[in-house]
Amino acid sequence: MQTALADFIRETPAGNEADRILRSCVHCGFCLPACPTYQLLGDELDSPRGRIYLMKQVLEGAPATARTQLHLDRCLTCRACESACPSGVQYGRLLEIGRAVVEERVPRTPRARLERYLLRRTMPYRPRVRALVSVARSLGPLLPRALRTRVQTREPTLPMPEQRSRRWPPARHARRVVLLEGCVQPALAADINPAAAQVLDRIGISVVRVPAAGCCGALSYHLSAHTEALRQMRHNVDALWPHVEAGAEAVVITATACASMLTDYGRLLEDDPAYAARAARISALAADISQVLTANAGTLRQALTAAPNAPSSSGAVPLRIAFQAPCSLQHALKLPGVVEPLLLDAGFTLTPVGDGQRCCGSAGTYSVLQPQLSAQLLSAKVKALEAGQPEVIATANIGCLAHIRTGTALPVRHWVELFAARLGCG
Ligand code: SF4
Ligand code: SF4
Repeated sequence: MQTALADFIRETPAGNEADRILRSCVHCGFCLPACPTYQLLGDELDSPRGRIYLMKQVLEGAPATARTQLHLDRCLTCRACESACPSGVQYGRLLEIGRAVVEERVPRTPRARLERYLLRRTMPYRPRVRALVSVARSLGPLLPRALRTRVQTREPTLPMPEQRSRRWPPARHARRVVLLEGCVQPALAADINPAAAQVLDRIGISVVRVPAAGCCGALSYHLSAHTEALRQMRHNVDALWPHVEAGAEAVVITATACASMLTDYGRLLEDDPAYAARAARISALAADISQVLTANAGTLRQALTAAPNAPSSSGAVPLRIAFQAPCSLQHALKLPGVVEPLLLDAGFTLTPVGDGQRCCGSAGTYSVLQPQLSAQLLSAKVKALEAGQPEVIATANIGCLAHIRTGTALPVRHWVELFAARLGCG
């Protein structure tokens, strides 16, 4: 695609990157069928190709309008279009640049500004999320159902032994990884991180906790508050670095959206001489829990064989799981099909899930900011997940987990919790 970027952005780092990405798009349209918003709305401007065209116009000097902003806002940032694109167009990166430019030029309504401000001032801060969740839980039945399900403590139980309120195992192994615990996840689903630590402990890897680390920065970054997000990233680099220097072999994350953000630290901080080298090292070490377990599959199999809840020893009918692969796992981390073999190795049965590439509608703050589209996507996702009559739905990202819980009566868990249950971790 030919481009002629406007003076305000030409020859800047963002401009050069946008120019390169725009030129790589050949307008073939192969990405359109993969786009959830195009499928729902049928408008080319709500497709990847249409949004690329809108961003090109703005970067070439055309006025950005509320309509431009609306079409960009409706994008889930799911990046299914990247997986479908034969030309390797880095749509997600272009969207970051395009959204930031449009954000500067199109004023939002006071209500929209307040909504975004409140999300940025609460969600990335663990104590604030905990306080909000605790207030919400105390209100119980007074809350709307969707919110009540999101913050619930009494979840549907699994048809297999399962430990809740998990303990963190002591750090007793020579092999160590550092765990980024995140912001929302410890408040909404406190068992996920300890479950991961217990599974790693079983295969001879200890988890080092870093209480000083905070939000990965994804929430602010995706709301175009780039300076704020970079501040959060620098904070994490400072908090994690002593453990990297002390020999941690990976920075492990149990939420795929946060894992994806961490793999971008190196790129996003490359122009900051005080942080570039450390950020690049942390990105290189960043790994979703599925990657660490896959890399240690042999030891994991031995642990499964020895475990009290292993299928061979219990003789129980294997739990039927519908696995929802988050977009951040499939399209951002580019790790489709990484979790399923682990679950099969553990003796679980996977039920078929149609249209597995499609976003569930959670997408960070999307379910709050675009509730109607999000609800339509959730409804289709739950239908696909329940079609194979599973006993439990598993996923790999806290946003998807909390969102899917609002649409189903089945138990919804992070897959590593099921793994810990299978291993008999307490
Ligand atoms: S983004 Fe890729 S698939 Fe979509 S129109 Fe451009 S080149 Fe084709
Ligand atoms: S990121 Fe997802 S919603 Fe956005 S254009 Fe690409 S496929 Fe469509």
